[in-house]
Amino acid sequence: MKKSEDNIIRGIAAAPGITIAKAFLYSKETESITVEDISDIHEAKSNLSEALEKSKHELRKIFELAVDKLGEKRAAIFDAQIMILEDQILIKNLFERIEKEKKSPEFIVHDEITKYQNIMNASTEFYMKERSQDIEDIKNRIIRNLKKKKWKSKISNDVIVITDTITPADTVLFTRVNVKGYVTNFGGITSHAAIVARSLNIPAVVGAHDATAKIDSDDLIILDGYHGEVIVNPSEVQLDFYNDKIKQLNDLDSELLKLKDEKAVTTDGFTINVLANLDVDAEIEFVLSHGAEGIGLIRTEQLFNVLENFPDEETQYRTYKGLSNKFYPKQITIRAFDIGGDKVLPLDVKEPNPMLGWRGIRFLLDHVNLFKTQIRAILRASVNNNIRFMIPMVSSLTEVKKTKALIEVCKQELAQENKKYSAFVDFGIMVEVPSATLLLREFGREVSFFSIGTNDLIQYLLAVDRGNDIISDSYDEFHPAVIRALEYIMHQAKATNTHVNICGEMASDHYAVPIIVGLGFNSISINASSIPYIKKIIRSFSYKECRELLKECLKLETEEEIKSKIKSFYNTRLKEDIDEIFKSE
Ligand code: PEP
Ligand code: MG
Repeated sequence: MKKSEDNIIRGIAAAPGITIAKAFLYSKETESITVEDISDIHEAKSNLSEALEKSKHELRKIFELAVDKLGEKRAAIFDAQIMILEDQILIKNLFERIEKEKKSPEFIVHDEITKYQNIMNASTEFYMKERSQDIEDIKNRIIRNLKKKKWKSKISNDVIVITDTITPADTVLFTRVNVKGYVTNFGGITSHAAIVARSLNIPAVVGAHDATAKIDSDDLIILDGYHGEVIVNPSEVQLDFYNDKIKQLNDLDSELLKLKDEKAVTTDGFTINVLANLDVDAEIEFVLSHGAEGIGLIRTEQLFNVLENFPDEETQYRTYKGLSNKFYPKQITIRAFDIGGDKVLPLDVKEPNPMLGWRGIRFLLDHVNLFKTQIRAILRASVNNNIRFMIPMVSSLTEVKKTKALIEVCKQELAQENKKYSAFVDFGIMVEVPSATLLLREFGREVSFFSIGTNDLIQYLLAVDRGNDIISDSYDEFHPAVIRALEYIMHQAKATNTHVNICGEMASDHYAVPIIVGLGFNSISINASSIPYIKKIIRSFSYKECRELLKECLKLETEEEIKSKIKSFYNTRLKEDIDEIFKSE
Protein backbone atom coordinates (compact mmCIF):
# COMPACT_ATOMS: atom_id res chain seq x y z
CA MET A 1 0.00 0.00 0.00
CA LYS A 2 1.40 3.37 -0.96
CA LYS A 3 0.42 6.23 1.29
CA SER A 4 -1.96 5.16 3.96
CA GLU A 5 -1.45 3.21 7.13
CA ASP A 6 -4.94 1.91 7.07
CA ASN A 7 -5.30 -0.70 4.34
CA ILE A 8 -9.04 -0.26 3.77
CA ILE A 9 -10.31 2.08 1.05
CA ARG A 10 -14.01 2.88 1.15
CA GLY A 11 -16.22 3.58 -1.82
CA ILE A 12 -19.77 2.89 -2.88
CA ALA A 13 -20.97 -0.72 -2.98
CA ALA A 14 -21.97 -0.92 -6.64
CA ALA A 15 -22.28 -4.64 -7.39
CA PRO A 16 -22.43 -7.37 -4.73
CA GLY A 17 -19.96 -10.18 -4.17
CA ILE A 18 -16.55 -10.69 -2.59
CA THR A 19 -13.48 -11.39 -4.59
CA ILE A 20 -9.79 -11.76 -3.79
CA ALA A 21 -7.25 -11.21 -6.57
CA LYS A 22 -4.23 -9.23 -7.69
CA ALA A 23 -4.78 -5.59 -8.63
CA PHE A 24 -4.33 -4.37 -12.15
CA LEU A 25 -3.91 -0.60 -12.31
CA TYR A 26 -5.53 0.40 -15.56
CA SER A 27 -4.72 3.79 -16.97
CA LYS A 28 -5.42 4.84 -20.49
CA GLU A 29 -2.11 4.98 -22.26
CA THR A 30 -1.70 7.62 -24.89
CA GLU A 31 0.92 6.59 -27.41
CA SER A 32 3.84 9.04 -27.59
CA ILE A 33 4.58 10.49 -30.98
CA THR A 34 7.67 12.15 -32.42
CA VAL A 35 7.92 13.71 -35.86
CA GLU A 36 10.34 11.60 -37.87
CA ASP A 37 11.41 11.87 -41.47
CA ILE A 38 11.39 8.62 -43.39
CA SER A 39 13.38 7.42 -46.37
CA ASP A 40 11.43 4.30 -47.38
CA ILE A 41 7.93 5.43 -48.35
CA HIS A 42 7.00 2.00 -49.63
CA GLU A 43 7.78 0.37 -46.29
CA ALA A 44 5.90 3.09 -44.37
CA LYS A 45 2.79 2.58 -46.49
CA SER A 46 2.93 -1.15 -46.14
CA ASN A 47 3.32 -0.79 -42.35
CA LEU A 48 0.26 1.43 -42.29
CA SER A 49 -1.79 -1.09 -44.33
CA GLU A 50 -0.76 -3.82 -41.93
CA ALA A 51 -1.58 -1.76 -38.85
CA LEU A 52 -5.01 -0.83 -40.24
CA GLU A 53 -5.81 -4.46 -40.99
CA LYS A 54 -4.63 -5.56 -37.57
CA SER A 55 -6.70 -2.88 -35.87
CA LYS A 56 -9.79 -3.98 -37.81
CA HIS A 57 -9.12 -7.58 -36.89
CA GLU A 58 -8.85 -6.68 -33.19
CA LEU A 59 -12.02 -4.62 -33.30
CA ARG A 60 -13.93 -7.43 -35.00
CA LYS A 61 -12.89 -9.74 -32.20
CA ILE A 62 -13.97 -7.22 -29.59
CA PHE A 63 -17.26 -6.78 -31.47
CA GLU A 64 -17.99 -10.52 -31.42
CA LEU A 65 -17.16 -10.72 -27.78
CA ALA A 66 -19.31 -7.68 -27.04
CA VAL A 67 -22.29 -9.21 -28.86
CA ASP A 68 -21.86 -12.26 -26.73
CA LYS A 69 -21.49 -10.47 -23.42
CA LEU A 70 -23.54 -7.33 -23.79
CA GLY A 71 -25.94 -7.95 -26.66
CA GLU A 72 -25.98 -6.67 -30.20
CA LYS A 73 -27.19 -3.18 -29.51
CA ARG A 74 -24.47 -2.32 -27.08
CA ALA A 75 -21.87 -3.95 -29.28
CA ALA A 76 -22.82 -1.63 -32.15
CA ILE A 77 -20.37 0.92 -30.81
CA PHE A 78 -17.48 -1.30 -31.97
CA ASP A 79 -19.06 -1.81 -35.35
CA ALA A 80 -19.09 1.96 -35.65
CA GLN A 81 -15.37 2.02 -34.81
CA ILE A 82 -14.68 -0.51 -37.57
CA MET A 83 -16.58 1.72 -39.99
CA ILE A 84 -14.31 4.64 -39.13
CA LEU A 85 -11.33 2.42 -39.98
CA GLU A 86 -12.95 1.74 -43.34
CA ASP A 87 -13.59 5.40 -44.10
CA GLN A 88 -12.10 5.79 -47.58
CA ILE A 89 -11.50 9.53 -47.29
CA LEU A 90 -9.58 9.14 -44.07
CA ILE A 91 -7.50 6.23 -45.39
CA LYS A 92 -6.74 8.01 -48.65
CA ASN A 93 -5.60 11.12 -46.77
CA LEU A 94 -3.27 9.07 -44.58
CA PHE A 95 -1.53 7.40 -47.53
CA GLU A 96 -1.32 10.61 -49.55
CA ARG A 97 0.20 12.55 -46.67
CA ILE A 98 2.89 9.89 -46.10
CA GLU A 99 3.82 10.15 -49.74
CA LYS A 100 3.81 13.94 -49.82
CA GLU A 101 5.28 14.83 -46.43
CA LYS A 102 7.63 11.85 -46.02
CA LYS A 103 6.93 11.67 -42.30
CA SER A 104 6.47 8.54 -40.21
CA PRO A 105 3.02 6.91 -40.44
CA GLU A 106 2.67 7.20 -36.64
CA PHE A 107 2.96 10.96 -36.89
CA ILE A 108 0.60 11.21 -39.90
CA VAL A 109 -2.04 9.01 -38.24
CA HIS A 110 -1.79 11.04 -35.05
CA ASP A 111 -1.95 14.38 -36.81
CA GLU A 112 -4.74 13.50 -39.25
CA ILE A 113 -7.01 11.80 -36.74
CA THR A 114 -6.45 14.52 -34.14
CA LYS A 115 -7.79 17.00 -36.71
CA TYR A 116 -11.04 15.00 -36.90
CA GLN A 117 -11.17 14.88 -33.11
CA ASN A 118 -10.71 18.60 -32.70
CA ILE A 119 -13.65 19.24 -34.99
CA MET A 120 -15.77 16.80 -32.98
CA ASN A 121 -14.67 18.22 -29.64
CA ALA A 122 -15.61 21.70 -30.76
CA SER A 123 -19.14 20.49 -31.38
CA THR A 124 -21.75 21.27 -28.76
CA GLU A 125 -23.42 17.94 -29.51
CA PHE A 126 -22.96 15.41 -26.78
CA TYR A 127 -23.06 12.61 -29.33
CA MET A 128 -20.14 14.07 -31.29
CA LYS A 129 -18.06 14.49 -28.16
CA GLU A 130 -18.69 10.88 -27.22
CA ARG A 131 -17.59 9.77 -30.69
CA SER A 132 -14.42 11.78 -30.27
CA GLN A 133 -13.51 9.44 -27.40
CA ASP A 134 -14.07 6.45 -29.69
CA ILE A 135 -11.77 8.01 -32.24
CA GLU A 136 -9.09 8.48 -29.57
CA ASP A 137 -9.31 4.73 -28.98
CA ILE A 138 -8.95 4.02 -32.69
CA LYS A 139 -6.03 6.42 -33.06
CA ASN A 140 -4.15 4.79 -30.21
CA ARG A 141 -4.95 1.36 -31.54
CA ILE A 142 -3.51 2.10 -35.00
CA ILE A 143 -0.40 3.78 -33.56
CA ARG A 144 0.14 0.91 -31.15
CA ASN A 145 -0.09 -1.50 -34.05
CA LEU A 146 2.30 0.61 -36.10
CA LYS A 147 4.74 0.36 -33.25
CA LYS A 148 3.95 -3.36 -33.27
CA LYS A 149 3.10 -3.29 -29.61
CA LYS A 150 0.78 -5.93 -28.30
CA TRP A 151 -2.19 -4.27 -26.68
CA LYS A 152 -3.47 -5.89 -23.60
CA SER A 153 -0.94 -8.64 -23.30
CA LYS A 154 -0.03 -6.96 -20.04
CA ILE A 155 -3.39 -7.64 -18.43
CA SER A 156 -3.21 -11.05 -16.92
CA ASN A 157 -6.27 -13.12 -16.23
CA ASP A 158 -8.32 -12.96 -13.05
CA VAL A 159 -7.35 -9.51 -11.82
CA ILE A 160 -9.27 -6.75 -10.08
CA VAL A 161 -9.19 -3.68 -12.29
CA ILE A 162 -8.42 -0.39 -10.53
CA THR A 163 -9.12 2.66 -12.64
CA ASP A 164 -10.51 6.19 -12.86
CA THR A 165 -13.62 5.32 -14.84
CA ILE A 166 -14.61 2.52 -17.19
CA THR A 167 -15.77 2.90 -20.79
CA PRO A 168 -17.89 0.33 -22.68
CA ALA A 169 -14.83 -0.81 -24.66
CA ASP A 170 -12.91 -1.39 -21.44
CA THR A 171 -15.69 -3.47 -19.96
CA VAL A 172 -15.82 -5.81 -22.91
CA LEU A 173 -12.10 -6.16 -23.04
CA PHE A 174 -12.01 -7.02 -19.37
CA THR A 175 -14.58 -9.79 -19.69
CA ARG A 176 -12.11 -11.46 -22.05
CA VAL A 177 -9.54 -11.81 -19.30
CA ASN A 178 -12.11 -12.83 -16.75
CA VAL A 179 -11.85 -9.74 -14.61
CA LYS A 180 -12.76 -10.52 -11.02
CA GLY A 181 -13.90 -7.07 -9.96
CA TYR A 182 -13.79 -3.35 -10.57
CA VAL A 183 -12.73 -0.46 -8.39
CA THR A 184 -13.19 3.02 -9.82
CA ASN A 185 -12.22 6.43 -8.44
CA PHE A 186 -15.32 8.11 -9.81
CA GLY A 187 -18.99 7.41 -10.38
CA GLY A 188 -22.05 6.61 -8.34
CA ILE A 189 -24.33 3.63 -8.02
CA THR A 190 -26.00 4.39 -11.36
CA SER A 191 -22.78 5.06 -13.29
CA HIS A 192 -22.12 3.07 -16.42
CA ALA A 193 -19.48 0.97 -14.68
CA ALA A 194 -21.88 0.07 -11.89
CA ILE A 195 -24.75 -0.89 -14.18
CA VAL A 196 -22.59 -3.07 -16.41
CA ALA A 197 -20.89 -4.73 -13.44
CA ARG A 198 -24.28 -5.63 -12.00
CA SER A 199 -25.57 -6.97 -15.31
CA LEU A 200 -22.47 -9.09 -15.75
CA ASN A 201 -22.52 -10.11 -12.10
CA ILE A 202 -19.02 -8.84 -11.32
CA PRO A 203 -18.45 -7.32 -7.85
CA ALA A 204 -17.64 -3.62 -7.95
CA VAL A 205 -16.86 -0.65 -5.76
CA VAL A 206 -17.18 2.77 -7.39
CA GLY A 207 -16.47 6.32 -6.25
CA ALA A 208 -13.44 5.17 -4.24
CA HIS A 209 -11.77 8.55 -4.89
CA ASP A 210 -8.05 7.84 -4.61
CA ALA A 211 -7.97 4.10 -5.28
CA THR A 212 -5.54 4.50 -8.18
CA ALA A 213 -3.21 6.55 -5.97
CA LYS A 214 -3.28 4.10 -3.11
CA ILE A 215 -3.08 0.80 -4.97
CA ASP A 216 -0.22 -0.56 -7.06
CA SER A 217 -0.51 -3.23 -9.74
CA ASP A 218 0.04 -6.67 -8.24
CA ASP A 219 -1.06 -5.59 -4.76
CA LEU A 220 -3.32 -8.28 -3.38
CA ILE A 221 -6.85 -6.96 -3.08
CA ILE A 222 -9.97 -8.06 -1.28
CA LEU A 223 -12.98 -6.42 -2.90
CA ASP A 224 -16.13 -6.43 -0.82
CA GLY A 225 -18.94 -5.38 -3.15
CA TYR A 226 -21.51 -5.71 -0.36
CA HIS A 227 -20.01 -3.02 1.83
CA GLY A 228 -18.08 -0.94 -0.71
CA GLU A 229 -14.70 -1.82 0.80
CA VAL A 230 -11.37 -2.49 -0.81
CA ILE A 231 -8.68 -4.05 1.34
CA VAL A 232 -5.16 -3.64 0.05
CA ASN A 233 -2.47 -6.21 0.82
CA PRO A 234 -4.55 -7.84 3.53
CA SER A 235 -3.10 -9.39 6.65
CA GLU A 236 -3.39 -13.15 7.25
CA VAL A 237 -6.25 -12.45 9.63
CA GLN A 238 -8.15 -10.39 7.03
CA LEU A 239 -7.53 -13.04 4.37
CA ASP A 240 -8.79 -15.84 6.61
CA PHE A 241 -11.84 -13.78 7.51
CA TYR A 242 -12.84 -13.12 3.90
CA ASN A 243 -11.97 -16.59 2.60
CA ASP A 244 -14.29 -17.94 5.19
CA LYS A 245 -16.99 -15.43 4.13
CA ILE A 246 -16.59 -16.42 0.49
CA LYS A 247 -17.14 -20.04 1.40
CA GLN A 248 -20.22 -19.22 3.46
CA LEU A 249 -21.58 -16.99 0.68
CA ASN A 250 -21.09 -19.75 -1.89
CA ASP A 251 -22.96 -22.16 0.36
CA LEU A 252 -25.69 -19.58 0.84
CA ASP A 253 -25.89 -19.03 -2.93
CA SER A 254 -26.42 -22.67 -3.72
CA GLU A 255 -28.99 -22.91 -0.94
CA LEU A 256 -30.76 -19.82 -2.23
CA LEU A 257 -30.92 -20.97 -5.83
CA LYS A 258 -33.11 -23.84 -4.63
CA LEU A 259 -35.64 -21.19 -3.65
CA LYS A 260 -35.82 -19.57 -7.04
CA ASP A 261 -39.06 -21.24 -8.04
CA GLU A 262 -40.73 -20.88 -4.66
CA LYS A 263 -43.31 -18.17 -4.03
CA ALA A 264 -42.32 -15.10 -2.06
CA VAL A 265 -44.89 -15.59 0.66
CA THR A 266 -44.70 -14.42 4.28
CA THR A 267 -45.16 -16.83 7.17
CA ASP A 268 -48.76 -15.59 7.51
CA GLY A 269 -49.61 -16.01 3.83
CA PHE A 270 -49.08 -12.56 2.28
CA THR A 271 -47.74 -13.12 -1.25
CA ILE A 272 -45.49 -10.76 -3.20
CA ASN A 273 -44.94 -11.10 -6.91
CA VAL A 274 -41.18 -10.89 -7.51
CA LEU A 275 -40.31 -9.41 -10.89
CA ALA A 276 -36.98 -8.47 -12.46
CA ASN A 277 -35.58 -5.26 -13.94
CA LEU A 278 -34.05 -5.66 -17.38
CA ASP A 279 -31.40 -3.40 -18.87
CA VAL A 280 -29.47 -5.40 -21.48
CA ASP A 281 -30.52 -8.42 -23.57
CA ALA A 282 -27.62 -10.42 -22.17
CA GLU A 283 -29.58 -10.55 -18.91
CA ILE A 284 -32.63 -12.33 -20.34
CA GLU A 285 -31.46 -15.89 -19.67
CA PHE A 286 -30.14 -14.89 -16.27
CA VAL A 287 -33.54 -13.38 -15.41
CA LEU A 288 -35.34 -16.53 -16.52
CA SER A 289 -33.02 -18.81 -14.59
CA HIS A 290 -33.31 -16.83 -11.36
CA GLY A 291 -37.02 -17.31 -10.91
CA ALA A 292 -38.44 -13.92 -11.96
CA GLU A 293 -42.22 -13.96 -12.15
CA GLY A 294 -42.17 -11.39 -14.92
CA ILE A 295 -40.40 -8.15 -15.78
CA GLY A 296 -41.36 -5.08 -13.78
CA LEU A 297 -39.14 -2.61 -15.61
CA ILE A 298 -37.53 -2.69 -19.03
CA ARG A 299 -35.29 0.34 -19.38
CA THR A 300 -35.75 0.72 -23.13
CA GLU A 301 -33.24 3.55 -23.33
CA GLN A 302 -30.60 1.10 -22.07
CA LEU A 303 -31.86 -1.88 -24.04
CA PHE A 304 -31.46 -0.02 -27.31
CA ASN A 305 -28.65 2.18 -26.12
CA VAL A 306 -30.44 5.18 -27.61
CA LEU A 307 -27.40 7.38 -27.20
CA GLU A 308 -26.17 5.70 -30.38
CA ASN A 309 -29.42 6.20 -32.28
CA PHE A 310 -33.17 5.78 -31.88
CA PRO A 311 -34.46 2.45 -33.18
CA ASP A 312 -37.22 2.53 -35.81
CA GLU A 313 -40.68 1.05 -35.30
CA GLU A 314 -39.89 -2.33 -36.84
CA THR A 315 -36.77 -2.82 -34.74
CA GLN A 316 -38.64 -1.91 -31.58
CA TYR A 317 -41.63 -4.05 -32.55
CA ARG A 318 -39.41 -7.10 -33.09
CA THR A 319 -37.60 -6.59 -29.78
CA TYR A 320 -40.79 -6.08 -27.72
CA LYS A 321 -42.57 -8.96 -29.43
CA GLY A 322 -39.54 -11.20 -28.83
CA LEU A 323 -39.57 -10.35 -25.12
CA SER A 324 -43.33 -10.80 -24.90
CA ASN A 325 -43.04 -14.27 -26.46
CA LYS A 326 -40.07 -15.24 -24.36
CA PHE A 327 -41.77 -14.40 -21.07
CA TYR A 328 -45.34 -15.38 -22.00
CA PRO A 329 -47.61 -15.88 -20.06
CA LYS A 330 -45.65 -13.80 -17.55
CA GLN A 331 -46.14 -10.06 -17.79
CA ILE A 332 -43.50 -7.63 -18.93
CA THR A 333 -43.51 -3.89 -18.29
CA ILE A 334 -42.01 -1.66 -20.95
CA ARG A 335 -41.00 1.81 -19.88
CA ALA A 336 -40.90 4.56 -22.51
CA PHE A 337 -37.44 5.96 -23.22
CA ASP A 338 -36.17 7.75 -20.12
CA ILE A 339 -33.69 10.12 -21.68
CA GLY A 340 -32.05 13.13 -20.06
CA GLY A 341 -30.93 13.50 -16.45
CA ASP A 342 -28.06 11.12 -15.81
CA LYS A 343 -28.89 9.36 -19.09
CA VAL A 344 -27.58 12.38 -20.99
CA LEU A 345 -29.52 13.81 -23.92
CA PRO A 346 -28.35 12.61 -27.30
CA LEU A 347 -29.25 15.90 -28.97
CA ASP A 348 -27.55 19.21 -29.34
CA VAL A 349 -28.54 20.42 -25.90
CA LYS A 350 -26.55 21.49 -22.89
CA GLU A 351 -28.58 21.94 -19.77
CA PRO A 352 -27.40 23.71 -16.64
CA ASN A 353 -29.32 21.25 -14.49
CA PRO A 354 -30.13 18.07 -16.42
CA MET A 355 -31.65 16.21 -13.45
CA LEU A 356 -34.30 18.91 -13.28
CA GLY A 357 -34.41 19.39 -17.00
CA TRP A 358 -35.62 17.93 -20.24
CA ARG A 359 -36.04 14.40 -19.01
CA GLY A 360 -38.34 11.40 -19.46
CA ILE A 361 -41.92 12.23 -20.41
CA ARG A 362 -41.09 15.94 -20.88
CA PHE A 363 -38.63 15.06 -23.61
CA LEU A 364 -40.95 12.49 -25.20
CA LEU A 365 -43.93 14.84 -25.42
CA ASP A 366 -41.68 17.39 -27.12
CA HIS A 367 -40.66 14.73 -29.68
CA VAL A 368 -44.04 13.39 -30.62
CA ASN A 369 -42.90 11.38 -33.63
CA LEU A 370 -40.21 9.62 -31.69
CA PHE A 371 -42.69 8.90 -28.88
CA LYS A 372 -45.39 7.69 -31.28
CA THR A 373 -42.92 5.31 -32.91
CA GLN A 374 -42.36 3.68 -29.55
CA ILE A 375 -46.06 3.60 -28.62
CA ARG A 376 -47.01 2.08 -31.99
CA ALA A 377 -44.34 -0.61 -31.64
CA ILE A 378 -45.59 -1.46 -28.15
CA LEU A 379 -49.26 -1.62 -29.19
CA ARG A 380 -48.36 -3.89 -32.11
CA ALA A 381 -46.16 -6.13 -29.96
CA SER A 382 -48.91 -6.50 -27.34
CA VAL A 383 -51.10 -9.02 -29.12
CA ASN A 384 -50.19 -11.68 -26.52
CA ASN A 385 -51.75 -9.33 -23.94
CA ASN A 386 -48.83 -9.66 -21.55
CA ILE A 387 -47.29 -6.22 -22.04
CA ARG A 388 -47.79 -3.24 -19.77
CA PHE A 389 -46.62 0.23 -20.72
CA MET A 390 -45.44 3.02 -18.44
CA ILE A 391 -43.94 6.48 -18.69
CA PRO A 392 -41.07 7.93 -16.62
CA MET A 393 -40.52 11.21 -14.76
CA VAL A 394 -44.18 12.17 -14.61
CA SER A 395 -44.82 15.35 -12.65
CA SER A 396 -48.24 16.51 -13.83
CA LEU A 397 -51.60 15.16 -14.82
CA THR A 398 -51.40 16.95 -18.15
CA GLU A 399 -48.49 14.73 -19.16
CA VAL A 400 -50.60 11.65 -18.49
CA LYS A 401 -53.58 13.00 -20.42
CA LYS A 402 -51.42 13.99 -23.38
CA THR A 403 -49.83 10.54 -23.45
CA LYS A 404 -53.21 8.82 -23.32
CA ALA A 405 -54.41 10.99 -26.21
CA LEU A 406 -51.32 9.99 -28.18
CA ILE A 407 -51.96 6.31 -27.47
CA GLU A 408 -55.46 6.77 -28.92
CA VAL A 409 -54.06 8.48 -32.02
CA CYS A 410 -51.62 5.58 -32.50
CA LYS A 411 -54.45 3.04 -32.21
CA GLN A 412 -56.48 4.88 -34.84
CA GLU A 413 -53.51 5.05 -37.18
CA LEU A 414 -52.78 1.33 -36.76
CA ALA A 415 -56.45 0.47 -37.37
CA GLN A 416 -56.45 2.56 -40.54
CA GLU A 417 -53.27 0.85 -41.70
CA ASN A 418 -54.84 -2.55 -40.98
CA LYS A 419 -52.07 -3.42 -38.57
CA LYS A 420 -52.71 -5.82 -35.72
CA TYR A 421 -52.44 -4.35 -32.24
CA SER A 422 -53.90 -4.78 -28.78
CA ALA A 423 -56.44 -2.21 -27.63
CA PHE A 424 -55.98 -3.23 -24.00
CA VAL A 425 -52.44 -2.47 -23.00
CA ASP A 426 -52.32 -1.59 -19.29
CA PHE A 427 -50.99 1.91 -18.94
CA GLY A 428 -49.15 3.16 -15.87
CA ILE A 429 -46.74 5.77 -14.59
CA MET A 430 -43.48 5.78 -12.71
CA VAL A 431 -43.97 7.52 -9.39
CA GLU A 432 -40.59 9.13 -8.90
CA VAL A 433 -41.19 12.88 -8.62
CA PRO A 434 -42.59 14.28 -5.35
CA SER A 435 -45.37 16.21 -7.14
CA ALA A 436 -46.69 12.92 -8.54
CA THR A 437 -46.97 11.43 -5.07
CA LEU A 438 -49.11 14.34 -3.97
CA LEU A 439 -51.44 13.90 -6.95
CA LEU A 440 -51.83 10.14 -6.77
CA ARG A 441 -55.58 10.14 -6.37
CA GLU A 442 -55.95 12.09 -9.59
CA PHE A 443 -53.44 9.86 -11.36
CA GLY A 444 -55.21 6.79 -10.02
CA ARG A 445 -58.29 7.76 -12.01
CA GLU A 446 -56.27 7.90 -15.22
CA VAL A 447 -53.94 4.90 -15.09
CA SER A 448 -54.10 1.24 -14.16
CA PHE A 449 -50.85 0.93 -12.23
CA PHE A 450 -48.09 2.83 -10.45
CA SER A 451 -44.45 1.82 -10.33
CA ILE A 452 -42.39 3.55 -7.68
CA GLY A 453 -38.94 4.56 -8.83
CA THR A 454 -37.18 5.04 -5.52
CA ASN A 455 -33.87 5.88 -7.21
CA ASP A 456 -35.30 9.14 -8.44
CA LEU A 457 -37.91 9.61 -5.76
CA ILE A 458 -35.18 9.67 -3.10
CA GLN A 459 -33.06 11.99 -5.24
CA TYR A 460 -35.87 14.50 -5.73
CA LEU A 461 -37.40 14.18 -2.28
CA LEU A 462 -34.09 14.69 -0.46
CA ALA A 463 -32.52 16.95 -3.10
CA VAL A 464 -29.50 14.64 -3.36
CA ASP A 465 -27.99 13.87 -6.76
CA ARG A 466 -28.18 10.07 -7.07
CA GLY A 467 -24.96 9.85 -9.11
CA ASN A 468 -22.74 12.11 -7.03
CA ASP A 469 -20.39 10.16 -4.79
CA ILE A 470 -19.47 13.26 -2.76
CA ILE A 471 -22.89 13.47 -1.17
CA SER A 472 -23.77 9.78 -1.39
CA ASP A 473 -24.01 9.60 2.43
CA SER A 474 -27.02 11.88 2.30
CA TYR A 475 -28.77 9.66 -0.23
CA ASP A 476 -30.62 7.47 2.22
CA GLU A 477 -33.55 5.18 1.53
CA PHE A 478 -34.26 4.99 5.25
CA HIS A 479 -34.67 8.73 5.64
CA PRO A 480 -37.95 9.24 7.53
CA ALA A 481 -39.29 11.39 4.67
CA VAL A 482 -38.78 8.48 2.25
CA ILE A 483 -40.56 5.95 4.47
CA ARG A 484 -43.42 8.37 5.10
CA ALA A 485 -43.70 9.20 1.38
CA LEU A 486 -43.93 5.48 0.56
CA GLU A 487 -46.63 4.98 3.17
CA TYR A 488 -48.53 7.97 1.76
CA ILE A 489 -48.25 6.56 -1.77
CA MET A 490 -49.61 3.16 -0.68
CA HIS A 491 -52.47 4.82 1.12
CA GLN A 492 -53.46 6.92 -1.89
CA ALA A 493 -53.08 4.00 -4.29
CA LYS A 494 -55.37 1.90 -2.12
CA ALA A 495 -57.96 4.66 -2.06
CA THR A 496 -58.14 4.58 -5.86
CA ASN A 497 -57.68 0.83 -6.09
CA THR A 498 -54.59 1.16 -8.26
CA HIS A 499 -52.00 -1.60 -8.45
CA VAL A 500 -48.54 -0.56 -7.14
CA ASN A 501 -45.13 -1.98 -7.88
CA ILE A 502 -41.73 -0.79 -6.64
CA CYS A 503 -38.83 -0.98 -9.08
CA GLY A 504 -36.06 1.21 -7.63
CA GLU A 505 -32.87 -0.27 -6.18
CA MET A 506 -34.34 0.01 -2.69
CA ALA A 507 -36.44 -3.07 -3.39
CA SER A 508 -33.25 -5.11 -3.98
CA ASP A 509 -31.83 -4.08 -0.59
CA HIS A 510 -32.43 -6.86 1.90
CA TYR A 511 -32.69 -4.38 4.78
CA ALA A 512 -35.61 -2.67 3.10
CA VAL A 513 -37.58 -5.91 2.72
CA PRO A 514 -39.51 -5.81 6.03
CA ILE A 515 -40.46 -2.20 5.34
CA ILE A 516 -41.61 -3.06 1.82
CA VAL A 517 -43.61 -6.02 3.10
CA GLY A 518 -45.08 -3.84 5.85
CA LEU A 519 -46.08 -1.23 3.30
CA GLY A 520 -48.19 -3.90 1.60
CA PHE A 521 -46.59 -4.07 -1.85
CA ASN A 522 -48.04 -6.89 -3.93
CA SER A 523 -45.19 -6.74 -6.36
CA ILE A 524 -41.55 -5.70 -6.42
CA SER A 525 -39.13 -5.52 -9.32
CA ILE A 526 -35.46 -6.12 -8.53
CA ASN A 527 -32.06 -7.17 -9.95
CA ALA A 528 -32.33 -10.75 -11.11
CA SER A 529 -29.32 -11.79 -9.04
CA SER A 530 -31.07 -10.67 -5.83
CA ILE A 531 -34.29 -12.61 -6.45
CA PRO A 532 -33.51 -15.83 -4.54
CA TYR A 533 -32.16 -13.94 -1.52
CA ILE A 534 -35.03 -11.48 -1.36
CA LYS A 535 -37.50 -14.38 -1.67
CA LYS A 536 -35.82 -16.09 1.24
CA ILE A 537 -36.12 -12.99 3.40
CA ILE A 538 -39.76 -12.43 2.54
CA ARG A 539 -40.44 -16.04 3.49
CA SER A 540 -38.84 -15.49 6.91
CA PHE A 541 -41.14 -12.76 8.23
CA SER A 542 -44.83 -12.38 8.85
CA TYR A 543 -46.73 -9.53 7.26
CA LYS A 544 -48.08 -8.69 10.69
CA GLU A 545 -44.66 -8.17 12.30
CA CYS A 546 -43.43 -6.18 9.28
CA ARG A 547 -46.48 -3.94 9.53
CA GLU A 548 -45.74 -3.37 13.23
CA LEU A 549 -42.13 -2.54 12.41
CA LEU A 550 -43.25 -0.08 9.75
CA LYS A 551 -45.64 1.64 12.14
CA GLU A 552 -42.81 2.11 14.64
CA CYS A 553 -40.48 3.41 11.93
CA LEU A 554 -43.10 5.92 10.80
CA LYS A 555 -42.90 7.52 14.23
CA LEU A 556 -39.10 7.84 14.22
CA GLU A 557 -37.41 11.10 13.33
CA THR A 558 -34.00 10.25 11.93
CA GLU A 559 -32.57 7.78 9.44
CA GLU A 560 -30.16 6.46 12.10
CA GLU A 561 -33.05 5.56 14.40
CA ILE A 562 -34.89 3.83 11.57
CA LYS A 563 -31.85 1.84 10.50
CA SER A 564 -31.08 0.68 13.99
CA LYS A 565 -34.71 -0.34 14.50
CA ILE A 566 -34.63 -2.42 11.31
CA LYS A 567 -31.29 -3.98 12.26
CA SER A 568 -32.52 -5.13 15.61
CA PHE A 569 -35.68 -6.49 13.96
CA TYR A 570 -33.41 -8.54 11.70
CA ASN A 571 -31.09 -9.69 14.43
CA THR A 572 -33.84 -11.26 16.44
CA ARG A 573 -35.21 -13.17 13.45
CA LEU A 574 -32.86 -14.06 10.61
CA LYS A 575 -29.84 -16.22 11.27
CA GLU A 576 -27.98 -16.63 7.99
CA ASP A 577 -28.36 -13.48 5.96
CA ILE A 578 -25.34 -11.76 4.51
CA ASP A 579 -24.83 -9.55 7.55
CA GLU A 580 -24.95 -12.55 9.85
CA ILE A 581 -22.24 -14.08 7.72
CA PHE A 582 -20.13 -10.99 8.21
CA LYS A 583 -20.79 -10.76 11.90
CA SER A 584 -20.24 -14.36 12.84
CA GLU A 585 -16.77 -14.18 14.29
C1 PEP B 1 -35.94 4.75 -10.42
O1 PEP B 1 -35.81 5.97 -10.61
O2 PEP B 1 -36.05 4.24 -9.29
C2 PEP B 1 -35.96 3.81 -11.57
C3 PEP B 1 -36.27 2.55 -11.39
O3 PEP B 1 -35.63 4.27 -12.78
P1 PEP B 1 -34.16 4.67 -13.26
O4 PEP B 1 -33.19 4.12 -12.27
O5 PEP B 1 -34.02 4.13 -14.63
O6 PEP B 1 -34.21 6.19 -13.25
MG1 MG C 1 -36.09 6.85 -12.50
